[in-house]
Amino acid sequence: MLKKLSVLLSSAILAFSFSACTSSANTAESSEGKIKISATFNALKEFAQAVGKDKVEIETIIPDGMEAHDFEPKPQDIKSLGNAKIFVYNGLGMESWAEDAITAANNKDLIAVCASDGADLIETEASENESNEEHHGKYDPHLWLSLKGAKTEALNIKDALVKADPENKDYYEKNFNEFKVQLEELYNEYKEKFQTVQNKNFVTGHAAFGYLCRDFGLSQNSVSDIFAEGEPSPKQLANLVSYCKENNVKTIFAEEMASTEVSKTLANEVGAKVETIYTIENNEDNKTYLERMSENLSKIYESLK
Ligand SMILES: [Zn+2]
Repeated sequence: MLKKLSVLLSSAILAFSFSACTSSANTAESSEGKIKISATFNALKEFAQAVGKDKVEIETIIPDGMEAHDFEPKPQDIKSLGNAKIFVYNGLGMESWAEDAITAANNKDLIAVCASDGADLIETEASENESNEEHHGKYDPHLWLSLKGAKTEALNIKDALVKADPENKDYYEKNFNEFKVQLEELYNEYKEKFQTVQNKNFVTGHAAFGYLCRDFGLSQNSVSDIFAEGEPSPKQLANLVSYCKENNVKTIFAEEMASTEVSKTLANEVGAKVETIYTIENNEDNKTYLERMSENLSKIYESLK
């Protein structure tokens, strides 16, 4: 109870200092010289922050606590595009509204970056759900959950920053290279670790880890589909239960935004524990991209060991 109260209190203080912050940030003085970036969701904001550091000011369009896959912006949500210099979106059907938002912004100086451009993509299974292709596109959008994919996305953002602010080219190049090295170090650490485990299968909330699995030779099974839509039918749940039992799955990963209750039910059913995993579609626990990826990989590795 005491702990809860102090959490409440500190979030009240945070909220207060945050609003104090935004009101001063709105004056021309404090935001002077900073490149305004509008990013659709949290992972992209993290990449833009890693490359732009203190030379950028980033707004996220999809509010925290919103399911990113289902999001449909209202006019006030895309207001920031009107005076932004750079708009970063993931593409691959994550933001089917992006093109319309760019048109609506009517901002001739806006540099739009589709962060997934140039990546080696994973096609979604046609049999999975035919209507998905129309609605979401034919590729798995979760590129940012791969450390290699993150490198591509950060590179595209870096190129846009150089274009928007050529004077600071060296600064952005340096920041990008530092971030790239950190991504590669984490990748190399887990490439080795995952080679040592026999069991390669893990179970998660929604099928967000296709690219991560490809990077490390793992395989995901999930409670909810790739677009975080729908909950499993009793038959699918029964299949998941037998899958977990056959593969001796001891951990069910759950996300804040997708099918947490079903994950708990499944865990109870097979005697597994529930662990949090980050999809980085939202700001979670105020942790950076690298902190969350490092936790994800560590937890997946521990569950397979
Ligand atoms: Zn997702």
